[in-house]
Amino acid sequence: MTISLTGCAKTFPDGTRALLPTDLAVGDSEIVALLGPSGCGKTTLLRLIAGLETPDSGGRIQLGEEDVTALPVESRRVGIVFQNYALFPNMSVRANIAYGLKMQKQPRATITARVDEVMGLCRLEGLADRANTMLSGGQKQRVALARAVAPRPKLLLLDEPLSALDAALREVLRDELAGLLRTIGTTAIFVTHDQSEALAIADRIAVMNTGRIEQIGTPMTLYQQPASPFVASFVGHAVPLDGKAEGDEWVTGAGRFRTREPAGNRKVFVRPESLMVDETGSLSGTVAATTFMGTHHRVLVAGLNPAPIPATYRGSTPPQRGQPVRLAINADEALLL
Ligand code: ADP
Ligand code: MG
Repeated sequence: MTISLTGCAKTFPDGTRALLPTDLAVGDSEIVALLGPSGCGKTTLLRLIAGLETPDSGGRIQLGEEDVTALPVESRRVGIVFQNYALFPNMSVRANIAYGLKMQKQPRATITARVDEVMGLCRLEGLADRANTMLSGGQKQRVALARAVAPRPKLLLLDEPLSALDAALREVLRDELAGLLRTIGTTAIFVTHDQSEALAIADRIAVMNTGRIEQIGTPMTLYQQPASPFVASFVGHAVPLDGKAEGDEWVTGAGRFRTREPAGNRKVFVRPESLMVDETGSLSGTVAATTFMGTHHRVLVAGLNPAPIPATYRGSTPPQRGQPVRLAINADEALLL
């Protein structure tokens, strides 16, 4: 099912402009992440698509060929996974998953078959009669997904589906959710404030900031061609490097290096993985801290910006705090914004 939003804004009765006029088009079976910091309007946008909020006048929402702007949530055939899962506490796993099918007044045999199918899909076999108060966080998350998927929604909406889990479990379930959503094959939009989640799960990511979508694109496009300083720093932690342009060079107080093209009025942003500790490098700094990351060392270097900035060391004798280092950056990896 394709989705298209045109000019959808949301102003709450208290005057809060949670969402500025927004356009968004999502393809059939596509998985799109709404990524941005807390309060930027992600949940509001998701609730508009669900039909839990109505857009300000002029906004239009289309599911496939149908204009659903005025349709209530129960008529939109959307499955929703809420941030806190919102499972029915006094119902078994089976009853939770069957709920939507019962609302559709499906025959009992159909319901049983579908619930079994979805429980298999979501790896919930053997838990049918468990009270959901007796489930682990990961199992609750899968029950919430199974409940949303069971009535065969045309569109799946998930609001921070992993945020209630602890860090270790989140990482495992992130990959699992990515696989599950692809198996289910339904068009899906999910909200997250965690860039690693968006990168791992989504086909495309809409980066949101203060009530608007700043950029939408594939994970690689956002990473390689961020459209704004906000996107560059939110996706991949790029840092602006103090200095000024001189032709196709960027001149800093700690040395100069070549850029892909003249920076002109733009600024240079660098990512930790592009700034290499390298004795042949043209920039100089002093190590403020070194952290072992498993595959490499992350080195905080002072002397370039007022605050130390992160660089990467790939070798076996990492520089220590207080030691002078040289840094190199590949012209193609210095972002001009
Ligand atoms: P996010 O999900 O990105 O954290 P939200 O969409 O929940 O952001 O909120 C966006 C902005 O709208 C925030 O400033 C929030 O406080 C405000 N907001 C959300 N819901 C309401 C509401 N029902 N009434 C008034 N303001 C709201
Ligand atoms: Mg939210």
